[in-house]
Amino acid sequence: MMEDELRIQVFIDNDATVAGLAEYEFGSMKGCKSGILLTLGTGIGGGIVLNGEVYSGAHGVGSEIGHMIIGENFYNCNCGKNGCFETFASSTAIIRYTQKLIKDGNTDTIILQKVDGDLDKINAKIIFDSAKEGDRVAKMAVDRLVKYLVIGIFNIVNFMDPEVIALGGGISNAGEYLLNQVKEEFEKNKFFKTLPAANIVLAQFKNDAGILGAAMLGKHGIR
Ligand SMILES: [Zn+2]
Repeated sequence: MMEDELRIQVFIDNDATVAGLAEYEFGSMKGCKSGILLTLGTGIGGGIVLNGEVYSGAHGVGSEIGHMIIGENFYNCNCGKNGCFETFASSTAIIRYTQKLIKDGNTDTIILQKVDGDLDKINAKIIFDSAKEGDRVAKMAVDRLVKYLVIGIFNIVNFMDPEVIALGGGISNAGEYLLNQVKEEFEKNKFFKTLPAANIVLAQFKNDAGILGAAMLGKHGIR
């Protein structure tokens, strides 16, 4: 329909997939043969680059990394399943877990002051900032996110051993504070202790990755 209207060739792909393409062309995965971008936002998106091209599977519906099941959780995913990666390691996940902690009686937290007691005002930035300030409840929530994020990363590494895993999306705004914990947890538990493994890095383009990558689709000729 867009081609009829615009009279130019139009290329379409998934938002996380094209974000991965942007990181591959200009950013955190530049020069790599294989890499995965995890967009840690309200959900988790995956952008897979293999041999310089984005990979979405035989039917175009692969790379739904956010819905790989990695445990049992206290709430269901939007997709209807329980235990999806994105219910443990997205901004939605850390907000819901923090709200649960407080409702369960962990009220000795500066988070409550920051949101004037309104649990609906909690966001990922408030939680990470409070954890950096040493808040016990915020740290519990961050620890849980890191634990499951690394489980997800392990699955990816064991499955396809990419050169780079880049962390993007809103959660990656926690920056080095998050990255250092993820790398430490990864090193502690990795499968082949003495072999090199995927380099875990922060993605470069934040929210612009999708727009930049979409503009690259024409170049790669993906429909
Ligand atoms: Zn799901």
